[in-house]
Amino acid sequence: MFKKVLIANRGEIAVRVIRACREMGIRTVAVFSKADADSLHVRYADEAFCIGPADSASSYRNIANILSAAEITDAEAIHPGYGFLAEDANFAEVCASVGIRFIGPTPENIRVMGDKAKAREAAHRAGVPVLPGSPGPLRDEKEALKLAQKIGFPVILKAAAGGGGRGMRVIHTEASLGNAFHQAQSEALASFGSGEIYIEKYVVDPRHIEIQVLADERGAVVHLGERECSIQRRHQKILEEAPSAVLTEKIRKRMGEAAIDLVKSARYRNAGTVEFLVDKDLKFHFIEMNTRVQVEHPVTEAITGIDVVKEQIRLSAGDSLDMKQRDVQFVGHAIECRINAEDPDTFVPSPGRVVRFDLPGGPGVRVDTAVYAGYTIPPHYDSLVAKVIVHGKTRDEAIARMSRALDESRIEGIKTNIPLQRKIMADPDFRRGKYTTHFLERYAPEP
Ligand code: ADP
Repeated sequence: MFKKVLIANRGEIAVRVIRACREMGIRTVAVFSKADADSLHVRYADEAFCIGPADSASSYRNIANILSAAEITDAEAIHPGYGFLAEDANFAEVCASVGIRFIGPTPENIRVMGDKAKAREAAHRAGVPVLPGSPGPLRDEKEALKLAQKIGFPVILKAAAGGGGRGMRVIHTEASLGNAFHQAQSEALASFGSGEIYIEKYVVDPRHIEIQVLADERGAVVHLGERECSIQRRHQKILEEAPSAVLTEKIRKRMGEAAIDLVKSARYRNAGTVEFLVDKDLKFHFIEMNTRVQVEHPVTEAITGIDVVKEQIRLSAGDSLDMKQRDVQFVGHAIECRINAEDPDTFVPSPGRVVRFDLPGGPGVRVDTAVYAGYTIPPHYDSLVAKVIVHGKTRDEAIARMSRALDESRIEGIKTNIPLQRKIMADPDFRRGKYTTHFLERYAPEP
């Protein structure tokens, strides 16, 4: 096992990885930007290194500075968390070339499965249901039109390198396709550095349900069940739960097997998530794969008792999977609310000094955060300040527990979306488990 791991990230996920390392007896190196000197991840790590100014291109995405920190501190492996360099195949490759383990999949895995158009092809090859659409990136507007006519409107144009809910455009009519094609292409180039776009059928009122997988270097694979992530704003998740309230045992099994088929066929290694859209008839189609740990991994940990981050570290160190599919058992129900520093009505970010930060506790409640009272949330990064995760015997108990946990939370000095999360907990459709990716529009109208 590694003796020392560097965490190339910040905020709650850096704290999460440090905790896993601590429990495994691994020493930790935190890296931080000048804006993050007071963050908890700096305090919790055994060593901490400043890697540059606030701007993430100069710090958390600065490969040279991160590798220097790893070399100076003799770290044998780097955990990239999510975001920043987590899905950068080049970074994974550079790590390997200087003899440092990248805790995650192989560079080739990231190159193929991290590119949405290539991942669609890989899923198709593996016999996994894929939404009708382009076989690879679109050549031109003419090809887009031909495919759209074949698939039938509405369709969606997506950036192959897209992420974070950005780089997507829904098209309802033939007349609007031409303009949308060129706009999507130039937006993709500007935002993701690649103008490659592809087209797929737009599913009306779907649910986003994803499968967590773990794979070792010898090709053994298990899935850890599903996460329901349909509560989204602008295609970004804000609440997740496991298991999904709508899946039947039969569909759950089929989705798990589809995810495993894809992982095996793509020779994918380490932890990953296979994302599907599920329609009202419970037909599921692959949309993309996330080749890293996800924000919502704790709901899976709660219902399986499996520590996803420790598994990532063990698998990267070359250990074999120490479980078979039949060993993965699901107990109870878990919900995660993402607490964001933002105005609950306008969604405008609300960084600044936190004067009060009372977290919930009690049975079945977990909070992941890098924030504390007196801390100033810098304006340079995403607005996630904490994740509240609850686990209950049943979905009803988990909802009651989350409502109670949100009531106990007191965050002052900044605005948060706790009022919005409370409204979701009280919503009769949410409580019945009847919702789709459009659910939040009733509380958060799109501008
Ligand atoms: P990202 O990588 O930016 O998260 P995804 O491909 O995972 O993008 O899609 C994010 C969300 O966008 C989905 O959860 C869903 O709500 C919506 N979406 C994506 N593709 C489609 C589609 N073909 N039909 C309907 N909604 C879609």
